[in-house]
Amino acid sequence: MTTRATELLRVVHARPGVTRADAARLIGVGTGATTELVGRLGQAELLAEGPTAPSGARGRPTTALIPHPRGPLIAAASITHEAWRVDVVELGGSILATAGEELAGRSGDEVVAALGAAVHRLRIEYRDRIRGIGISVPGTVSRDLMLDASQLGWQDVDLAVAWPRAEIFVAGNDATLAASAESRRGIAVGAAVALHLRIEAGLGGAVVDGGRVLIGALGASGEFGHMPFGDPAVRCPCGAFGCWGTAVDGSALARLLGHETPPDPVTYARRIITDPNPEPAAAAATVATALGRGIAGLVNGLDADLVTLGGLGVDLLAAAPAQLLAAYEAGLMSFRRATPPPVLPALLGDNGPIVGAAEEAWTALLARLT
Ligand SMILES: [Zn+2]
Repeated sequence: MTTRATELLRVVHARPGVTRADAARLIGVGTGATTELVGRLGQAELLAEGPTAPSGARGRPTTALIPHPRGPLIAAASITHEAWRVDVVELGGSILATAGEELAGRSGDEVVAALGAAVHRLRIEYRDRIRGIGISVPGTVSRDLMLDASQLGWQDVDLAVAWPRAEIFVAGNDATLAASAESRRGIAVGAAVALHLRIEAGLGGAVVDGGRVLIGALGASGEFGHMPFGDPAVRCPCGAFGCWGTAVDGSALARLLGHETPPDPVTYARRIITDPNPEPAAAAATVATALGRGIAGLVNGLDADLVTLGGLGVDLLAAAPAQLLAAYEAGLMSFRRATPPPVLPALLGDNGPIVGAAEEAWTALLARLT
């Protein structure tokens, strides 16, 4: 495969439904050469042509470049604090099939085994068209694919069990993958320095500098929830005291309301945050304030021009926007206050991590198709 062919596949992946003429312009190739490229990619069962989605525009119908019906696919998986899921994703990002279930208190090894069984079934169903897997996880992943998820109490869980000897196997932290997805397919496309913060059980995130995710020396960057912006008397599951994450998640709400630590922290937090009664509303406002203050600290330190929120961050912004934004602006250095960097809900919402996992796997696969 030539470089031009790979570029064309990348364009079709990034802009599903692109017309042949637009794709030709984007890769800087004439229409004749593009016709030949499309023909070759069709023979290789990578690309096909089909009608464009109706846009409402009048005129001659054009054809769009679409994934080949027998083309390669990726399995994109996510493990959250409450459930696992696996999607079959084609070129362009569309989902062809999905499977998943609740964690239901199972161990990390059991969850990865269940996920692996689903991947195996899907590989048979799609007759070996699935070429690789990307997995999003609520913790840190070592280079040899061992997962530690302190909030779930999981240590040394072997993710490779999900697909032993896979041709392509990528895994990453959910907040990092959500940040990457938001900068590729979400609201942060084109931002200079985008900060993404995701609250589930605890808080994680990532900085995307000019489209490139800062992953750190060990690949464990973005653990913003473990900066000491919280109450120094509160011990975090990570072992440190005063972590910011413990001031903004479901455990913070439970502490403020005198409840037991909930087994389903995200569902619990959503219920409290949307409860209009005075006591839960006051707790949500306190937590939103702690979130806003911390965001200000990060914007001051990183000089971000956009902040996106995922997970419970979206719920807090919707429930207590005045408190969150007042604390944010009060914490900003005065020169930033005239035009504070916007704090917005992530466009991809709860799908951010799994979309990011699909994108990472597709990036690896597109490089191999050349
Ligand atoms: Zn911590």
